[in-house]
Amino acid sequence: MLYSILCLNVITIAFVFSSVAPPFLIYVAPSVLLVAGAIRAYSWRSRRNKPVDPDRASAMLQSVHRFAVGFALAYMAWTLALFLYGDTGRQSQLVYTVVITDIICSFTLAHLPRVALALSAITLPAFLLLLAFSGGSDAKVIALNLAMVALFFGYMVAGSARDFERMVEAQLRSVQLADENRLLANRDSLTGLPNRREFFARLESALDAESAGGGLVVGVIDLDGFKPINDLYGHALGDRVLRECAARLELFSGGATTIARLGGDEFALFMRGRSSEDDILQLGAQICAALKAPLKLAEIHAGLSASIGFARYPQDAMDAHRLYERADYALYYGKQHRRGEPILFSPDHESKMLLNARIQQALRSADLEKEISVEFQPLLDVPSERIIAFEALARWTSPELGPVPPDLFIPVAECGETIHLVTRTILRKALAAARDWPEDIGLSFNLSARDLASPVAMTQLAALIERSAFDPGRLEIEVTETALISDFEHAAHAIQRLKALGARISLDDFGAGYSSLAYIHRLPVDRIKIDRSFVQEMHANSAARDIIKSVISLCDNLKLNCATEGVETLEQLDLLRDYGCNVVQGFYFGAPIGQEAVAEMIAANRKADEGQSLRA
Ligand code: C2E
Ligand code: CA
Ligand code: CA
Repeated sequence: MLYSILCLNVITIAFVFSSVAPPFLIYVAPSVLLVAGAIRAYSWRSRRNKPVDPDRASAMLQSVHRFAVGFALAYMAWTLALFLYGDTGRQSQLVYTVVITDIICSFTLAHLPRVALALSAITLPAFLLLLAFSGGSDAKVIALNLAMVALFFGYMVAGSARDFERMVEAQLRSVQLADENRLLANRDSLTGLPNRREFFARLESALDAESAGGGLVVGVIDLDGFKPINDLYGHALGDRVLRECAARLELFSGGATTIARLGGDEFALFMRGRSSEDDILQLGAQICAALKAPLKLAEIHAGLSASIGFARYPQDAMDAHRLYERADYALYYGKQHRRGEPILFSPDHESKMLLNARIQQALRSADLEKEISVEFQPLLDVPSERIIAFEALARWTSPELGPVPPDLFIPVAECGETIHLVTRTILRKALAAARDWPEDIGLSFNLSARDLASPVAMTQLAALIERSAFDPGRLEIEVTETALISDFEHAAHAIQRLKALGARISLDDFGAGYSSLAYIHRLPVDRIKIDRSFVQEMHANSAARDIIKSVISLCDNLKLNCATEGVETLEQLDLLRDYGCNVVQGFYFGAPIGQEAVAEMIAANRKADEGQSLRA
């Protein structure tokens, strides 16, 4: 529009002066202006609606500035020259046309106020002065009038340019904010990987797009040994470890594979397409190997490994949630049996999940007071073979399911709050039974990780202990490493409370989980109980023997009592005695027995102690 009007006005002016001005001014000069204007108009039009990057846009606007000033100067020179040849009528017409052209140009250039104002500054003053001083009083009034109009227009242009700039800024800001929000909502801020929400959104759309005959695999990855690093070296270093792991995992993403961080030290992936069992396990092994490679963070010396559980679509489950649940179960199962390896969800897992669901159902409606009972297994002092304590072990007989072993129902109860009620029931029964035992015989009691992590549950348990007639000095609380690892702060606090009551602390299943000496060092542990798996392998496996020997000497150095569980044979006992183990427990001395049989066992042990060896 700007150039059409300019060109039209150039033609009009040239026409008006055609009979009075020399040919150079009415043919050559206007032609130059017309050609320049036409070229400019054409080049702008041809770029219309084409995207430009900001740098290019800025350069183009600069060129507008230069061109406008050049064009205005040329236009001015031409029109001023024409002015000299005109009579009053032509001169007035010229001034009018120039002023109107300027106003229209300012209007069309309103978003470039500096250009618009520069144009006015170049063209208007000279013409208005010429008009004011060459004509009569009418001309002076008209010049004044035009000057006011031009000033008012300049003011409007400047105002509208400011508004326009603010509008653009606000729009840019809101686009930026929307981008940032989208990124924040879908990305994990620590690692930059897609987060849980984004993972499930992408998984769901991948499943939607999956045609019949296609396939997909979901993997859930959990770092083994991350929590101790976080607890012992601080969160800043923990964050660095997570970022490093994410960077390693990212190498596997792209193409058909999406990797995400679901939270904490849990990562997940899904891979579109049909893959064979071998392919999946191979990918899993590669990921485990990548995460196991030593960390290049100078301050830490702890190793890290990862376990992965996989579930397949459509064999294992049909929707995102169930696929994740099954991959997660495979992971959970894998962590217990083959830590640090990939594992595929299997029909066996499916039946275990089903059994867990039935146990959960039965637990919900169980009358714990009636259905739960306690058995006791003796712990013996090695040199004297005297019984020093009994460990309380839970027994549940469900009316629907029959007897359910504790290693099945305790983990299920631990999934919810039920565990606290279960623990209180067992503790109350165990304390009541132990009240009648001789004073030199203690009670060992297992606490769940969930109990230790809950200050409310701990308060209730502490009250139970204080109210009972049993001396807390005779009470030993067994906690597992897993309990310490899953929530170190709360577990440490709970242990302090138990110690304050007078109870002793025993670290159960030592070596079965992720053993970290730093935990023992930082907590007031009184006894370490070496996991029974080592004793069971002792005869066949020299590594198991070496581990037992080292743990016993470690306990010696740290002035800790050392117990070994799962002793089933005389050979095992003899070896353990040679190694210097203080306390033993196991079927060799007696399986867990009911409360009524305890007194009898104590009496038999006393008699044996007085005369013959229990072994005989
Ligand atoms: P745990 O604390 O390591 O308990 C020792 C387990 O080893 C008991 O199994 C016991 O019967 C078994 N055992 C003892 N001597 C031998 C032996 O010589 N050879 C073999 N193969 N096994 C032996 P149980 O009673 O089935 O308990 C299994 C697990 O369930 C316990 O392992 C403990 O983790 C959990 N549990 C049992 N009762 C409770 C409880 O009251 N509270 C909590 N939180 N967990 C409990
Ligand atoms: Ca135990
Ligand atoms: Ca144990």
